[in-house]
Amino acid sequence: MAFSSLGLSAELVRAVADKGYDVPTPIQAQAIPVILAGRDILAGAQTGTGKTAGFTLPLLQRLSQTPGGGARAIRALILTPTRELAAQVEESVRSYGRHLPLRSTVIFGGVGFTPQAEALRRGIDILVATPGRLLDHVEQGTVDLSRVEILVLDEADRMLDMGFIRDIRRILALLPGRRQNLLFSATFPDEIRELADGLLNSPALIEV
Ligand code: AMP
Repeated sequence: MAFSSLGLSAELVRAVADKGYDVPTPIQAQAIPVILAGRDILAGAQTGTGKTAGFTLPLLQRLSQTPGGGARAIRALILTPTRELAAQVEESVRSYGRHLPLRSTVIFGGVGFTPQAEALRRGIDILVATPGRLLDHVEQGTVDLSRVEILVLDEADRMLDMGFIRDIRRILALLPGRRQNLLFSATFPDEIRELADGLLNSPALIEV
């Protein structure tokens, strides 16, 4: 199977070729068409399966194919449990989106707040964040989540283990009701199932 047969645009197929990928991984083959169709997904996937490209490529395509309307606003929010993962995911967003006119930034704790606030103020389409620092920005009024169209929870079970579930619920309450939700988790303890039940609308189930 080729990336082009999954429905990805020429710019994204080119970005994937730039990376040297020949064929989609199983999670990419399953998730990409479903996400492009606008559905919610609940995906069981470990790191190393290619899940990052599995959500990033169709997310970039959906944002690039529909107008954001007016001033630049955060249209996709990707939450991750750790700084390292946040930085890595944003690097993927940049590299897969290199042929598209979309802007991203990453925010996490342990580093200066002001440069992040400035990056947010300049206007971005895609925000990758850890929950605690994102809520700091919410409290300071430096981030606007009212235009988010796509939410990704990456490694949801690790976010649970790290005590972020309450923060996530606070963030969810700030998002518009009408949006696409993508939840990735390696395991599905009860709290993750409950979160998924409240969050996802008739999700496609993907297991690799
Ligand atoms: P992830 O599970 O998203 O952390 O990805 C694991 C690794 O697989 C990353 O280093 C990716 O660059 C790489 N990768 C992702 N998709 C593919 C693919 N279709 N072919 C080869 N390598 C890939």
